[in-house]
Amino acid sequence: MDYQAFFRQRLTDLKDEGNYRVFIDLQRKRGGFPAAVRTQGSDRDDVTIWCSNDYLGMGQHPKVIAAMHGALDRCGAGAGGTRNISGTTHDHILLEQELADLHQKESALVFTSGYVSNWAALGTLASRIPGCIVFSDSLNHASMIEGIRHSRADKVIWKHNDLQDLEAKLAAADPDRPKLIAFESVYSMDGDIAPIAGICDLADRFGAMTYLDEVHAVGLYGPRGGGIAEREGLMDRLTVIEGTLGKAFGVVGGYIAASEELCDFVRSFASGFIFTTALPPAVAAGAAASIRHLKDNTGERIAHQEIVADVRRRLDDLGIPHVPNPSHIIPVIVGDPVKCKFLSDTLLDEFGIYIQPINYPTVPKGTERLRITPSPVHTPEDVDRLVAALQCLWGRCQLARVPMAAQ
Ligand code: PMP
Repeated sequence: MDYQAFFRQRLTDLKDEGNYRVFIDLQRKRGGFPAAVRTQGSDRDDVTIWCSNDYLGMGQHPKVIAAMHGALDRCGAGAGGTRNISGTTHDHILLEQELADLHQKESALVFTSGYVSNWAALGTLASRIPGCIVFSDSLNHASMIEGIRHSRADKVIWKHNDLQDLEAKLAAADPDRPKLIAFESVYSMDGDIAPIAGICDLADRFGAMTYLDEVHAVGLYGPRGGGIAEREGLMDRLTVIEGTLGKAFGVVGGYIAASEELCDFVRSFASGFIFTTALPPAVAAGAAASIRHLKDNTGERIAHQEIVADVRRRLDDLGIPHVPNPSHIIPVIVGDPVKCKFLSDTLLDEFGIYIQPINYPTVPKGTERLRITPSPVHTPEDVDRLVAALQCLWGRCQLARVPMAAQ
């Protein structure tokens, strides 16, 4: 086989479909988010980022940067090993205590990313609990799907956020087999929110464990940033809460929070936890500082909700269609991969506004979109510029508008 020709052809196909991913070369500026510098060949342009998952700008927060500097000066760069072999530093221990406290669980376990935490924890629970059946929401993130797949446990996919379908599927399963319901709180591409209380009720009725991915909610919702489950007073009803340190907390890493025994079980059996180098202590210290700040301060969360509502109102005024969800994620639906990429490219080249196009396979074909994520550090002028640019391009591309009453 001509391997290189094969790779070239598949990449050409992707480009023809408008689904080829182009990475933008960005330099973030300390304290300057959402401003960044884009490098393209010898050109360097100022851009405003409108699609970051650093939802609150904590990646540039002075307390987080100071904590990371402090740990670098104290401990140096790397952890020096896996958690098992010399890589558990005091900063990791403190971070896990902070996370257990955030979710009011006995224990927490940190992984190198949110992806790895889902993959490793779900994979371990589903494969090591004999006869376990996993009930997985149909729109679960790739990391959960891959973890469940890797476990080779029996999997039942229930219709997205549909309690009746979940109930019917739980009722149809062998009552004596262990069960695990895996789902998210805020879904990242549509921004809709799971009926967590109803899922917990079903879990109680059918003797199932619950595994909730709060990756797009931790730091953002609840009085201390514990996520949607905290906001709804449900944390104690969930078996496992999983989250990331890389989005609202602004650093990198992932975790689960659960009972002492469950965390110890995953710690002891999950290869994705055991056989990989621990996060650098500076990362652990930065994440802990971010979590502490967001536990003690509501300013970022309140300002975040306000700017999200403002952007939505302004899009409504222009009839630009966006998914009317109850979260901070604003998906502007374009419905065509080529137009979606054109909009994104033109926003960047002409207006200095960076919004990555979201195309298939991340979202279903025909629902290609610009996923806008306002943050409390975007200024009113940033919002004016965004809205004016979208208005201009919507007209230029002759994209459909939605009458105000329909929004
Ligand atoms: N879960 C969900 C729902 C996600 O959207 C993502 C990443 N986008 C992850 C897990 C993985 O988190 P991380 O980026 O920390 O690996």
